[in-house]
Amino acid sequence: MASSDASSIVWLRDDLRLDDNPALTHAAALGLPVTVVFILDEESAGIRPLGGASRWWLHHSLAALATALEDEGSRLLLRRGPAAVVIEDLAAETSATHLFWNRRYGLPERTVDDAVSVWADQNGVHGSSFQANLLFEPWTIRTGAGGPYKVFTPFWRACLATEDIRDLQEAPQQLPSPATGKGGVVPPNEDLESWNLLPHSPDWSVGLAATWEPGEDGARRRLEDFLDGPAEEYGTGRNVPGVEGTSRLSPHLRFGEISPFRVWREIRLRFPRQVPADVGIFRSELGWREFCWHLLHTNPELATRNYRPEFDRFEWQSLSSGELKAWQQGRTGYPLVDAGMRQLWQTGWMHNRVRMAAASFLVKNLLADWRIGEQWFWDTLVDADAASNPANWQWVAGSGADASPYFRIFNPVTQSKKFDSAGRYLRQYIPELAALDGKAVHEPWKAGEVQGYPGPLVGLPESRERALQTYSKLKD
Ligand code: FAD
Repeated sequence: MASSDASSIVWLRDDLRLDDNPALTHAAALGLPVTVVFILDEESAGIRPLGGASRWWLHHSLAALATALEDEGSRLLLRRGPAAVVIEDLAAETSATHLFWNRRYGLPERTVDDAVSVWADQNGVHGSSFQANLLFEPWTIRTGAGGPYKVFTPFWRACLATEDIRDLQEAPQQLPSPATGKGGVVPPNEDLESWNLLPHSPDWSVGLAATWEPGEDGARRRLEDFLDGPAEEYGTGRNVPGVEGTSRLSPHLRFGEISPFRVWREIRLRFPRQVPADVGIFRSELGWREFCWHLLHTNPELATRNYRPEFDRFEWQSLSSGELKAWQQGRTGYPLVDAGMRQLWQTGWMHNRVRMAAASFLVKNLLADWRIGEQWFWDTLVDADAASNPANWQWVAGSGADASPYFRIFNPVTQSKKFDSAGRYLRQYIPELAALDGKAVHEPWKAGEVQGYPGPLVGLPESRERALQTYSKLKD
């Protein structure tokens, strides 16, 4: 039986929202005063430190969440430190009898959560965890033989066959008042600014701020704009980097500002009779997100270890610092790669087709180890995701599950001619090429020297041949 000063803790992590947040809903339903806490944990073993763009996003997402909670008469408590210790201290401060959280799926995070769960059990704190961030929890989807899936299509088929997508949980009508500490003392809060999540000198975040609205409201607007607009032509629009043909929900999903269940439900409401084919393709992209987490769950070292062990003997080449910088800064001389890398630097996001081309250029044309690219994307993407980023890098490299075959080497020139034929995207991100006429923008070296823009870093036919030869050694 809870004492009169009993309280609950809701521990938010990758679920920075009020809507469809089962941990929050259950705590609200219990009716005890609630401490809603976010812990910046940079100390627990194995937790991957956030990259720069993710830190920027987190700052703004937490600020938006704090405002939303205040509007509901609650408050967001910020604490920093090893999460298990922070939770224990906070439970003591607030006489917590109940602890609620939504589940995480990476191994270091699960290890922390398991330890907290054991501690709660042993200390009379009632702990409850919920499914919130994946439509299908990784261990629930199994092959006929009982193992995890290695190929996307049967995985997604199996997911859809379960027809087991839980109901939405609307945001609580009213949030209980925040818990006070023992003797009525308000638990001290840390200052978000003091976490130094934002860049200072130089402040590279201007373009990010102009592009994104972190937080739950921004996420809902993105979803509505997408469903009102490009969704029904997603099948073709998603391949064209010069138009907004995709949802741009990825950072919102990454930080849990919108739940995949909400996205699923809004699609159903919008298309009650039959989901159009293009929207079905969009849903299967959500499936890729699920698949990446499915892979990470059984391969916790996905960001550092080849999924296919034969790649351990692959002969990656060392890049000179000049070559690596040329790729990172969008100065390879190949406009599609360069436009993508500049879009990434300026906005913290890159179009999916261009991600594939830029990644392929690094690992195939330059033969750089995929981990170098994964790390750069981890640092610069606002949607940098512990599962999707390494899984996609390994997909491009060929070392991953259901991976792109080794002979698939994206040709950046052919790709931009096909998907950005008028050169709109190229000119947007590479002003040096703006004056080039018509098709010349795809192969600027053919127009002679273009002031301020480099010539090709490597030849495409030669580097392709070198890649094919190196990959063929794996077959021996
Ligand atoms: P939409 O086309 O609108 O798709 C809707 C949602 O589906 C996305 O928001 C995302 O959550 C999911 N999704 C779509 N494609 C994929 C995919 N291939 N794999 C996993 N989920 C997908 N996506 C990330 O969310 N985080 C990453 O760190 C990440 N790194 C990538 C690295 C490389 C090298 C490549 C090739 C792809 C990577 N992707 C990553 C996948 C994909 O590029 C982005 O999810 C997509 O571009 C996000 O834009 P969107 O929200 O408009 O996508």
